[in-house]
Amino acid sequence: MRYDKNALIFLGPPGSGKTTIASKVAFYFGVETVETGRLLREKVKNESELSNKIRPFIESGKLVPSDLVAKLVQKKIELMDTNIIIFDGFPRRDDQIELFFRISQDVGFNFIAVIVLLISRTTSEKRLMGRRVCSKCGTVYNIYFNPPREDACNICGGKLVRREDDTPEVIHKRLNTYEYETVPVIKYFERNYPQITYSESVEKPMEIIFDSILTIIDKVK
Ligand code: AMP
Repeated sequence: MRYDKNALIFLGPPGSGKTTIASKVAFYFGVETVETGRLLREKVKNESELSNKIRPFIESGKLVPSDLVAKLVQKKIELMDTNIIIFDGFPRRDDQIELFFRISQDVGFNFIAVIVLLISRTTSEKRLMGRRVCSKCGTVYNIYFNPPREDACNICGGKLVRREDDTPEVIHKRLNTYEYETVPVIKYFERNYPQITYSESVEKPMEIIFDSILTIIDKVK
């Protein structure tokens, strides 16, 4: 069955620039992304039974239980009035593949592509170590690759901080989690949907990455 809405998935290790790239693509189409990391971080900001359940997983670099993530994802999509849905970081573990397809039927969207971002572990680590986020407006910088003009946010002057899970120990765990839990998801798509599973190296200038992703989307939509 064909629906009016199309969905594409971005997957890639922490530090691959997945969120930056997915957001740039979303901005181009005038839509928001469905970013599971952000949805979860927003939930843990306030004290609640749910936030206490989620926090320990994020703090230790492990994946949050899939049923919780799927509920947040579905709720977010149901509130979105858009015909292109861009998933940033979901499905990220094998049990989330089934949840993804269930949501696609409940909400009603076609699955048109998976874009896998490729980067070496060393570059990912360096990017994560250098990442700084504006504590006021959320703009992301990197002290090695995209430094702010001063030691504050270029846009609002806010203080730049490290994300809590960007410590060397948690970075190491998150990269391992990616290898053990998310790489099998990529293998699943490569095996079962080879015609719509694309890989894109992110160790090149952003304009080139962006152009080739738009070419992919043009081909599948
Ligand atoms: P990210 O911002 O994508 O690096 O995600 C930050 C953290 O949120 C991850 O280390 C996980 O703890 C959690 N997370 C994000 N997406 C998922 C997902 N699809 N399933 C389970 N946990 C997730």
